[in-house]
Amino acid sequence: MTDEIKFPLEFKACPNCGSERRLAGELIEQEKEKGKAGPDTVGALNVFSAIIADPRRAILQAPGVTAYTDMCLDCGTIYCVRVDGGKVTPQMKPVKFNPQFPPNFTPS
Ligand SMILES: [Zn+2]
Repeated sequence: MTDEIKFPLEFKACPNCGSERRLAGELIEQEKEKGKAGPDTVGALNVFSAIIADPRRAILQAPGVTAYTDMCLDCGTIYCVRVDGGKVTPQMKPVKFNPQFPPNFTPS
């Protein structure tokens, strides 16, 4: 059994050079000072999310994570600055009618 991960995970310094200056992090602070971004906005160059589950099984709820990456202003290294986590409920998508065939079309 592994220890439970406590979110958010935060990485405040560049893993390459140790600098705490980062591009989107500083730009979003300027936007916050102008009132153009909310106080809890995370500055990031890229944001990606994943549902952590076996894709071969139907799931009702699974752990989900969102990771934010940014670039070090001193050495250019791209690194993860924050990871949020929680439970997500996958959305079921309705099967769409294919308009190429009439409703009662049966391939022969
Ligand atoms: Zn760096």
